[in-house]
Amino acid sequence: MATAILDHEIRNADGPAAGAADDASPALAAARFHPVPIDPSCPHCRSTGTAGDLAVDTEDWSFADAAYCISLEERDDRMQAAAREFHRTGLCRRVLFHRPTRHPTRVIEGIWEAHRAVARHALDRGAERALVFEDDVRFTRKITSQRLARVSAAIDRLPDDWTIFFLGHWPLRARFHTADTLATASACAHAYLASRRLLHWLETHRFADRAGRIDKRAGAGIDAAYARLGGCYAYFPMLAVQAVLGSDHMAEKKRTRPIRRFKHLVTRTSLGEVLLSRLMRPNEFIIAGIGAVAGAAERLGLRRTPN
Ligand SMILES: [Zn+2]
Repeated sequence: MATAILDHEIRNADGPAAGAADDASPALAAARFHPVPIDPSCPHCRSTGTAGDLAVDTEDWSFADAAYCISLEERDDRMQAAAREFHRTGLCRRVLFHRPTRHPTRVIEGIWEAHRAVARHALDRGAERALVFEDDVRFTRKITSQRLARVSAAIDRLPDDWTIFFLGHWPLRARFHTADTLATASACAHAYLASRRLLHWLETHRFADRAGRIDKRAGAGIDAAYARLGGCYAYFPMLAVQAVLGSDHMAEKKRTRPIRRFKHLVTRTSLGEVLLSRLMRPNEFIIAGIGAVAGAAERLGLRRTPN
């Protein structure tokens, strides 16, 4: 189905990629999207794209027809760190960076609007499925052609009304849909595949529209809305976690919210980020295990199926 939204011809062209959609002027909007900088040592960047080329044959991300990574314009260090992940996994030929300016007053509003901006960009390009990453994404499992083929097959087995297919997440509740797919309610938005249904949802829901649409266990941002959305699935085990880079959202919390209770040591300090990153995969196994036991109990009639 999908074709890469970028190729070397576009990546080597002067200036930013065209076709960006944003609330700002067309010129400014275009400036906020750019391809992954070419790394001469990357086999994917050097690839000719012809059949038999090792780099092309090994990593096939074609289950998505657009791919983006959100990284603040002022954080080149984080953009470069994410770029290294994309060179490592063969995504460098496909990802467009979205580089918004920092929101003047509220980081989570800026993040929400950045996810909307890439959704509008994907829709403008006619994308049916778009990969969306944040710049703290870290792939913790080796990306091979076999693994990506399994991911692609898992996506093909999703029901028609799926909204999100997470490649990395913090599950709050989960059940096995298939052996390698969880039906989930999850926090985090650092690595996911968005369906066209979700792209349209993002297009029509601004940060200001979030009242009554968020799961407060996941905060108040875009991932808290995703946790309430429904139609969410995740590849199991997850492929990517969030790195500890010092989140701008957490920095804002440290500046604006004092530590008054024990739990604030986790929610308002760097400790929370470290725990989130380190415990992401253990939490996945625990929540999936609980879901599997509950599912088995329901099948045996020991527990009522939730509505
Ligand atoms: Zn590359």
